[in-house]
Amino acid sequence: MSANPAPLWRRSRDRNNELERVRRTFGWSAPRLTQIALVELDRIYVPAWALEKAIRGLTVTPSSVWLRRIAANKLAALDIEAGGTPKLTVSAYRRCQMCDRALLGPEAEARLILDMRFEGEGKRTPCGPGCVELVHALGKREV
Ligand SMILES: [Zn+2]
Repeated sequence: MSANPAPLWRRSRDRNNELERVRRTFGWSAPRLTQIALVELDRIYVPAWALEKAIRGLTVTPSSVWLRRIAANKLAALDIEAGGTPKLTVSAYRRCQMCDRALLGPEAEARLILDMRFEGEGKRTPCGPGCVELVHALGKREV
């Protein structure tokens, strides 16, 4: 991130306060953060339907996948049915509209604040180190 010397806990607190303030200002029109979950399976492998729903850009293994909450719960239930004890790790999620990276947790919150604070302009603010470079790299690759 930046050369901000504030300790992690304070950065986190400030960010939460800012998110609260932005929510109060925008009220119900405020965009909300999507919740996704990493499902770590115990007894079964990730089925094809879950692979199709995997959040693009995040890690997938034969026994773990990032999914939206409903799909995550469904997959966890299948593992439990098979006698397993799956692990669910829930996180906030937002995609950067500049570099198309999937952002999680504090990064997703920061992205939401940027998007809301600057509206159209904020969406052109990089999400973090590597963001602009990524945009350039993707542009040069001519997909
Ligand atoms: Zn970005």
